[in-house]
Amino acid sequence: MARTSPASIPPAPAATDRPYLVERVGEAAVVQVYADGFRDLPLREKTLIWHLAQAAIAGRDIFYDQRYAHNLEMRDVLEAVVGQEGRQPQAGPIAAVERYTKLFWINTGPYNNHTARKFVLECTPAEFRDLVHAAERRGAAFPLRDGETLDALLDRLEPFFFDPDVDPTVTSKTPPPGHDILTASANNLYVDVTSSDLIGFVEEYGLNSRLVKREGGRLVEEVYRVGEIYGAQIGAIVRHLDAAIPYATEAMAAALRALITFYTTGRRSDREAYDIAWLQDKASPVDTINGFIEVYLDARSIKGAWEALVFYVNREKTHQIQSIAANAQWFEDHMPWDARYRKAGAKGITANAIDVVIEAGDSGPITPVGINLPNDQAIRERHGSKSVSLSNVIEAYDKSTIPELRSEFSWSDEETARATKWSAFAAELTTNMHEVIGHGSGRVSEHLAVSPPEALKEQYSAIEESRADLVALYFLPEAKLAELGLFAEEDHHDIVLAEYEAYVRNALVQLRRVRQGSQIEEDHMRNRQLIAQWLMANTAAIEVRQRDGKTYYVMVDAGAFRDGVGRLLSEVMRIKAEGDYDAARALVERYGVHFDPRLRDEVVARVERLNLPSYTAFVMPRLTASRDEAGAIIDVEISYPLDLATQMLEYSAATRHTRARP
Ligand SMILES: [Zn+2]
Repeated sequence: MARTSPASIPPAPAATDRPYLVERVGEAAVVQVYADGFRDLPLREKTLIWHLAQAAIAGRDIFYDQRYAHNLEMRDVLEAVVGQEGRQPQAGPIAAVERYTKLFWINTGPYNNHTARKFVLECTPAEFRDLVHAAERRGAAFPLRDGETLDALLDRLEPFFFDPDVDPTVTSKTPPPGHDILTASANNLYVDVTSSDLIGFVEEYGLNSRLVKREGGRLVEEVYRVGEIYGAQIGAIVRHLDAAIPYATEAMAAALRALITFYTTGRRSDREAYDIAWLQDKASPVDTINGFIEVYLDARSIKGAWEALVFYVNREKTHQIQSIAANAQWFEDHMPWDARYRKAGAKGITANAIDVVIEAGDSGPITPVGINLPNDQAIRERHGSKSVSLSNVIEAYDKSTIPELRSEFSWSDEETARATKWSAFAAELTTNMHEVIGHGSGRVSEHLAVSPPEALKEQYSAIEESRADLVALYFLPEAKLAELGLFAEEDHHDIVLAEYEAYVRNALVQLRRVRQGSQIEEDHMRNRQLIAQWLMANTAAIEVRQRDGKTYYVMVDAGAFRDGVGRLLSEVMRIKAEGDYDAARALVERYGVHFDPRLRDEVVARVERLNLPSYTAFVMPRLTASRDEAGAIIDVEISYPLDLATQMLEYSAATRHTRARP
């Protein structure tokens, strides 16, 4: 599947006179992303992007609702309180509400994006009630149901804001013994449905529906499409996409029309037609991803979470990823796995470095750094795939990262120096390889009757992300990369060391994100833990060392590392190709899920001492259209809000009219 979040630790910020790091909110850093190339685009492309950006904002509330059924009401209440407080620094209960609201926006609801765990409002219910009533006296509106008083609304929502034991986990792929992955997950993709209800049930709209158990135990698919669930938002998306078509290239216009058809019917065949049309648009300077795409939110890995991205090609940075795509067949032919799983004609692989102008839903404010689509394995094998590397997001990560995050966990000064010089470069290169030749590669067994996600269920995403990472790690030492001109041959060894060292360090440093419990939920975090722990158990590549009461994961043998990666990759490809659920589950649970909480406590203490963030959220650029008297767009200005709250309140205001009151 289809995305990479940043693993390796980027380098020190270069001297720059514009701000990247906007603020810190608890464990999160808030960073402005810049789209420098936008100003130089022709008006036609700016206008196209403007309409597509409106389509992105129009669907944002869908993902809020998918993630948690109470999210939109909770957001309305929070925004009514903080929206009127201005941007002055506050103390007391209002400070707790502002902090919670920012984390709520960053994570799209009360669940941490990386741990899937609930966080709660850190003031008393009585203090919150006072603030809400004060906001009401100032004229704020609240999402009251028919005949409902404000106090009754607050009573109803109180457990969602304050009780950590009510709906504790948004997605639970490894629930406590005796619990079911669907009922243990608080997301809104299933209502009163357990995994056993699904035995023998055939989903017609797997990707784009919510499954609800009605009275009498009957299962119903509520389809995400025009006129049905999320019909108001999808209708608005369709109108903006329609307005964009006149400004698109012919190939892109065909894809947008296919997307509108899919949003209208919701049918699988129309989604396939859209995927194919989107793949056939290989050369447009502007592109968008808009729909029910990634399946990480669903414990079953079937239901798509809504997201939208709008971006243009970054011509200067696109050489590297295009070289990898152009040589995809060479990599396919040299995969370490069984020849049965090699794709014969690695065709239709498109790749670009891009700058995002907006990301909403499942891709913002916390964004991936690389994307490869479509996720439908059958379409990928027949029609290829498209990859993007999010250049301006990667840049913003680099420029906002604190160098101590790297040095604190490096065993030696040489390791720190290599990381300073190469880890950002190596991370971007391996991200590109992960997307293009990782997710893009391989073919499944002819005996596999269902798709790999259906066969591997809740283990699928961690397995597929492992596969893509392993492909990148496996090929990094290949002389072919220097031959392609991706770097100078004399730097090759240091680049390999920098990436392998960073990968191993990350398995330790990422534990800072999971502050409760002793279990990893997020699939990319699982896959990285899996690979590092497997290498520790099965090769001599990594040593665990202690110094001054601190633990270090030290990569000591790059040859053994690479050899182990090749062996593990062969097995992971076999698991995917054969749909071997038992082997997938054993591998993920043994190496990817559990960790020692004392080790995590040590890592957390080390990052706290240095005040290092655990994850990063991004503020998007703001677009402003100017129009002539007839209403036609005559220019689109780009600016940078440098403020999360301002942007989130603007986005929420823009969709208020599509919100149906219950
Ligand atoms: Zn991926």
